[in-house]
Amino acid sequence: MKKKFETRAIHVGQSPESLYGSVSLPIYQTSTFKQEEFGEYTYDYSRAGNPTRSALEETLASLEGGLDAAMYSSGMAAISAIFMLLEKGDHVIISDNVYGGTYRLMTQVLESMGLLASWVDTSNLDLISSNISGNTRMIMVESPTNPMMQLTDIKAVSEISKKNSLQLVVDNTFMSPYYQRPLSLGADLVVHSTTKYINGHSDVIGGVVIGSNSETMEKLHFIQMSVGAVPGPFDCWLTQRSLKTLAVRMEAHNQNAMAIAKDLENSGKFINVYYPGLESHRQFILATSQQLSPHGKPGYGGMISVELKNLEDARAFVKNLEIFTLAESLGGVESLVCHPATMTHASIPFEIRNDLGITDGLVRLSVGIENVDDLLADINKALSKVN
Ligand code: PLP
Repeated sequence: MKKKFETRAIHVGQSPESLYGSVSLPIYQTSTFKQEEFGEYTYDYSRAGNPTRSALEETLASLEGGLDAAMYSSGMAAISAIFMLLEKGDHVIISDNVYGGTYRLMTQVLESMGLLASWVDTSNLDLISSNISGNTRMIMVESPTNPMMQLTDIKAVSEISKKNSLQLVVDNTFMSPYYQRPLSLGADLVVHSTTKYINGHSDVIGGVVIGSNSETMEKLHFIQMSVGAVPGPFDCWLTQRSLKTLAVRMEAHNQNAMAIAKDLENSGKFINVYYPGLESHRQFILATSQQLSPHGKPGYGGMISVELKNLEDARAFVKNLEIFTLAESLGGVESLVCHPATMTHASIPFEIRNDLGITDGLVRLSVGIENVDDLLADINKALSKVN
């Protein structure tokens, strides 16, 4: 019988090492490997492969329910590798509210090399269908999106994608495989910034692509080796160590964020509170059926965005927080706060940003796993300083 998620997170790809029986896997901190004979080796060079990296890839593939995984040195390197599966003239449909770095990569690097992109509200299935043309090869969605917490119905999009022989890619960074497994909903590839919940301790940058098609995965490993955007063995070891607690961390993030989102909504101090676990979220029903723990319990994650009146109010709120640290990134055990318009999404032009709802008053909270009473007290104290 297939072992349960928490057991796989601790044991898959992590059998005790055979030489001394070390329970914690050794870190193969080496660039190269001795060969007994010309061309006789398991690993030859750590850009092409390394046992610590392979062990992590095995764990991640198992948790997402994929055949294989390819690790990269950052989430952006992983997303770049996916776009490198395409050719000049190919067209991609991308969620219009993706992470700013994905937008920058496509508009400032890849479009000049001949890829074509349409930025579409992928929560609208008709809009997806009407943007498909003869050269469309891929649909890329982020669900929920960063920072507007907008969902895409992955199963419904996968049906459109299959009907048109396209590849469906889902950026699953916000949910982690604990609360959402897009391959089981029909996606072809899943990408993560492992920097976020997967590593979860704000000390490693990394990315991964997971899939079930061996030919595509072979290409992704070829890109990994050819481009060389690979993580070092120590970063892989830290990430694999962090995965062991992913389930308990995600439960705690979810529980804290739910309590905080409700409190923020009841405070009446915000124009909008965006959290998919609130009944007021326009896609609450989809979130409740799509974002499920491996045990079938709905989960909404640890990310909340709130909208204050203007930049001054946003600044006063953030300045008076003590536990929430003003910093880029998310998904760590410690709570962070970010101002998307000037930080993560600054590379998106003002008009486009504003249309998406990323106003100057929008603040994004990454709720950590500290004691929820302390987090609520911190927020309420900061809110009392906002006019
Ligand atoms: N995808 C999402 C949803 C993100 O939030 C981020 C970074 O914030 C990335 C991708 C890029 O990941 P990285 O910073 O590890 O390159």
